[in-house]
Amino acid sequence: DKGLSKTKENVFTKITRAIAGKSKVDDAVLDNLEEVLITSDVGVETTLKIIDRIEKRVERDKYVTTSELTGILRDEIANLLTENKTEDGDGFTLPEDKKPYVIMVVGVNGVGKTTTIGKLAYQFKKAGKKVYLGAADTFRAAAVEQLVIWSERVGVPIVKQKMGSDPASVAFDALSSAKANDADVVIIDTAGRLHNKINLMNELTKIKNVMKKVIPDAPHEILLVLDGSTGQNAFEQAKQFTAATEVNALAVTKLDGTAKGGVVIGISDQFKIPVKYIGLGEGIEDLQVFRKREFVNSLFG
Ligand code: GDP
Repeated sequence: DKGLSKTKENVFTKITRAIAGKSKVDDAVLDNLEEVLITSDVGVETTLKIIDRIEKRVERDKYVTTSELTGILRDEIANLLTENKTEDGDGFTLPEDKKPYVIMVVGVNGVGKTTTIGKLAYQFKKAGKKVYLGAADTFRAAAVEQLVIWSERVGVPIVKQKMGSDPASVAFDALSSAKANDADVVIIDTAGRLHNKINLMNELTKIKNVMKKVIPDAPHEILLVLDGSTGQNAFEQAKQFTAATEVNALAVTKLDGTAKGGVVIGISDQFKIPVKYIGLGEGIEDLQVFRKREFVNSLFG
């Protein structure tokens, strides 16, 4: 697919170029590799971890060829990626014992949060599920409008209130309606303002607490949406949101037009949260369940 092959071109061709003309993995090759990983936004910490493991391997086996290097790299990267438990089957299946399954979506403005919600709603509906949306980003009129457009496009109900109303109240209404109408899944949009940590934490905690009044174990999933093309910003946002709330799934968007696919590796390694979905375009079908083997294969051709 065109989306992931873009990521592949950027990381793999750089690696190939870095080791071209060399037969043995030596310090120069490792230096080049380190630079490639860092410029691919794998992140310094994760890059050093990978380089260190390869160095140990080179030390042990003495002669490691550059062609063996890609195999080693492939294994190391796969090991660093957090397992996505939903990657079996079509990946858009929902746990049967949680109905409605409640997904609270968080992330800063512009990362593709609304689009991801629309694409997810589409996939669940396609899988025969009854979907509800909740427009709890009440701070931006555009956010509600965009979500309304997606709800019409997909053909699923949306619960909203007027601008500036209490996001927790919208979440309460959305869960109540979803429950009363026997929905399978309800997806709640939240405001993407990154203000100070305490405010963010309070805001999200309030929404979560109100959800629990309707469904005691909600939200079942807190999905953080990150823009894969923003490199270090995505790391910073992951840091802030994971500190503010119990993020347990990631969606990384815009991996179609980016040289920064490596961000998936670093974030997955450093935050130990599974990447569940990847966004590969603006269209309704451009969301894939993240499968780590597929991803690694796409990096290495
Ligand atoms: P939000 O502010 O986080 O809700 O962001 P939006 O969902 O409105 O998306 C912001 C912009 O990014 C829009 O122009 C989307 O079409 C675009 N976008 C979202 N996801 C993707 C993706 O996976 N790939 C590309 N190329 N664009 C995307």
